[in-house]
Amino acid sequence: MTILVDMDDTIEQLLKAWVRGVNETYGRSVAYDDVRSWDVSAAYPGLSWEQVYEIPMRPGFWKTVEPIPGAAEVLQRLMAAGHRVYIVTATPHESVPEKMNDLLFRYFPFLSWEQVIIAANKQLIRGDVLIDDGIHNLEGGDYVKLLMTAPHNRSYDAQANGMIRVHNWAEIEEIIARLDTDGV
Ligand SMILES: [Mg+2]
Repeated sequence: MTILVDMDDTIEQLLKAWVRGVNETYGRSVAYDDVRSWDVSAAYPGLSWEQVYEIPMRPGFWKTVEPIPGAAEVLQRLMAAGHRVYIVTATPHESVPEKMNDLLFRYFPFLSWEQVIIAANKQLIRGDVLIDDGIHNLEGGDYVKLLMTAPHNRSYDAQANGMIRVHNWAEIEEIIARLDTDGV
């Protein structure tokens, strides 16, 4: 199968590092679970969108983002099993070099640049499965939709919208094995 995999908050913990960065910069104490909207600035009344969204653009930021446990191991096993794995990330172009070097290829060194697709419109990418925490990336896509749970999508009814909610990489591995056996 061709397995499309989002980057932020699917294989790494962007939101945790982002909240930590905003909190440290502006003396706030917002918790990860308080971010209930895709727009992170909504969790920071009194701060502008620019103030919040500038944090991940700072030099060195991506060094503070940690991988999600199990993601690297499962992706390696999927590749070893013969699946084609592609990272599909909608990221500001300015972030690409640091994000790739300080995060993706640091923690996922078995991936190559040929397996990275930078795209905002993920519905245009052809694959059997997309794993993503962004509802807007799954809706309307012609792939099996695995919704990685996150505080901003917690109240969304995944099942009613043709998606499978997943909570960790062990679950993802299990579902992909099942899809592989039963067909997509
Ligand atoms: Mg994401």
